[in-house]
Amino acid sequence: MNPILKVRDVCLSYHTLSGETPALSHISFDLMPGEFLSIVGPSGCGKSTLLNLIAGLLAPECGSITLDGKPVSAGSTAVGYMLQKDHLLEWRSIYKNILLGLEIRKELTPEKLSHAEELLRIYGLDRFRDARPSQLSGGMRQRAALIRTLVLKPELLLLDEPFSALDYQTRLTVCDDIYKIIKKEEKTAVLVTHDLSEAISLADKVYVLSARPATIKAALPIQLTLQDSSPLAARNAPEFPYYFKQLWEELTDET
Ligand code: ADP
Repeated sequence: MNPILKVRDVCLSYHTLSGETPALSHISFDLMPGEFLSIVGPSGCGKSTLLNLIAGLLAPECGSITLDGKPVSAGSTAVGYMLQKDHLLEWRSIYKNILLGLEIRKELTPEKLSHAEELLRIYGLDRFRDARPSQLSGGMRQRAALIRTLVLKPELLLLDEPFSALDYQTRLTVCDDIYKIIKKEEKTAVLVTHDLSEAISLADKVYVLSARPATIKAALPIQLTLQDSSPLAARNAPEFPYYFKQLWEELTDET
């Protein structure tokens, strides 16, 4: 099997009137199809910058990023982005929100509409199809935001602190919910989070980035002895405290 995502020797600095801010320095890694990668690192080290580069929203100053062998580009549906805010539009129903990407691309074909219907049904949102976003809980809104992305059939999902606006208890259940959808849809995913437990409980591997300009300081493959692979259950795995300690030490070292 070949990697779906190849990040090779990527660097980026921001240039403003007040000077240059080096954000990323020589970042390289591969991601296999279906893999889940979590990225942690000190605040302001360049995590969101890395996601924006993978999404093709920024161009690297050096190096290259390819998805399925092709350079990433802005506007491509191959990469889906999920953010802390769901950005659902209040004046549209949930169904109309979910169709937004297809509508903008003028791709409201019978086949794609039936896929959208199917996703709504499988993931329990069909009874909210005519509701406005404000009528849904925070968790249901995040589920709707994910489905809006999945309708476009992305190969790779980028998740930038998608649960951090939720209260702790909701966060745990929504995290489980979103993880199960991502796994059922067999998507490859990259999550940026500052929550170490979340990073471990979701991922096949965790990268720790150094302080700015970010490099990959440590790569931790996660292997938990678990029968139920839900992120909530993962927190009770015997290996969990070991991984937490490893990540904590790498990070405190950095900050
Ligand atoms: P993180 O996601 O790890 O908190 P970011 O990737 O958002 O970090 O930012 C990395 C660094 O680049 C920060 O120091 C930030 O202030 C700076 N930065 C981010 N975006 C811009 C921009 N558009 N112009 C100038 N500097 C920026």
